[in-house]
Amino acid sequence: MIIDIEKGNLRILVTGGAGFIGGCLVRRLLKTTNAKVFNLDKISYASDLSAIRESPNIYRHTLIKVDLKDYQKTFKAVKEADPDIIFHLAAESHVDRSIENAEPFLQSNIVGTFNILESARKHWDNMDHSRKKGFRFLHISTDEVFGSLGSEGKFSEKSTYDPRSPYSATKAGSDHLCNAWFHTFNLPIIRTNCSNNYGPYQFPEKLIPLIIFKALNKLPIPIYGDGTNVRDWLFVEDHIDALILAISKGEIGASYCIGGSNEKTNLEITKYICELLDKRVPINKPYTDLIKFVKDRPGHDKRYAIDSALIQKELGWQANNSFEDGLLKTIEWYLNNQSWYENIQKNSGFKGERIGLNKNF
Ligand code: NAD
Repeated sequence: MIIDIEKGNLRILVTGGAGFIGGCLVRRLLKTTNAKVFNLDKISYASDLSAIRESPNIYRHTLIKVDLKDYQKTFKAVKEADPDIIFHLAAESHVDRSIENAEPFLQSNIVGTFNILESARKHWDNMDHSRKKGFRFLHISTDEVFGSLGSEGKFSEKSTYDPRSPYSATKAGSDHLCNAWFHTFNLPIIRTNCSNNYGPYQFPEKLIPLIIFKALNKLPIPIYGDGTNVRDWLFVEDHIDALILAISKGEIGASYCIGGSNEKTNLEITKYICELLDKRVPINKPYTDLIKFVKDRPGHDKRYAIDSALIQKELGWQANNSFEDGLLKTIEWYLNNQSWYENIQKNSGFKGERIGLNKNF
């Protein structure tokens, strides 16, 4: 059964819709569908609703400010949204913060996922037959649950779970809960595991916006360890395409791996961004002069890479943005929206400082 997201007049619940990827999804849903979009988010340091508020279709958006760690409030929120489908993105998402303090990761990513699953299950149990058939719950996860690769091979749906940071361990836990709620309770769940995203509106603790803002402010650009750790980068809009396909056409109970086939070392990315900035906003020296190698992240995974063959073959997904195009769009956006960063800094208190250094490492 195909779920018609565009024309289905659906009620859609997005958790974490005030974050980077969730916000991009909410904006897309407001733009390309006629759905009522319910955005459940606790509104944390990583949240930003400014872009959503600019949507001409904002009247179809409802913010439900709830922390998923609270079961009663989560249950009430699901009741209020009365969703036809749920995209579950809410999570604590930054590895360094999970090293600094893992507790909020357990609360949001594990307890929070349990609470939304239980609330969704009760909601689904009470739906009438025709709505029940079309109900879907999409759980959005990361490739980091599979651990770290050597120089060869790629992660796929068949990869073994081997999480190595508090963040990835809690995301792995949430994946397992979803799998259990599908097998045990038949809740129609689909899961996705995606590689590193980048694009506009990403909180500047993450690598690409951090490099851009350090460079634009002529501050040292920190590179963890020797900079040879590899990530597989995907432009956020391409991830959104995959999520919409997965919930519309994905097989219930299946998981899909999503990646950009853009493997780059952290040092390569940094040098590439520096060269683009040299051309676009030159200063009196190359931006690469700002690069500073710093102590490595504890337990830093060496390499991630994704084999997206299944979602390409079964759902017809492909990334539409090359890394070069996506990065150019991203840099251009940050250059034109420096006041966004200043506001984010003011609201969150984050000033680009290093966190997550385990003294025993
Ligand atoms: P983000 O940190 O930018 O946003 C997360 C949002 O979730 C925030 O608005 C936050 O307030 C909300 N949230 C967190 N805990 C909550 C709770 N307990 N209750 C309600 N809301 C809560 O994260 P992101 O980068 O947009 O990632 C979104 C999802 O995608 C996460 O599940 C993440 O694991 C997954 N993912 C991210 C990437 C990536 O590269 N960013 C890659 C693959 C998968």
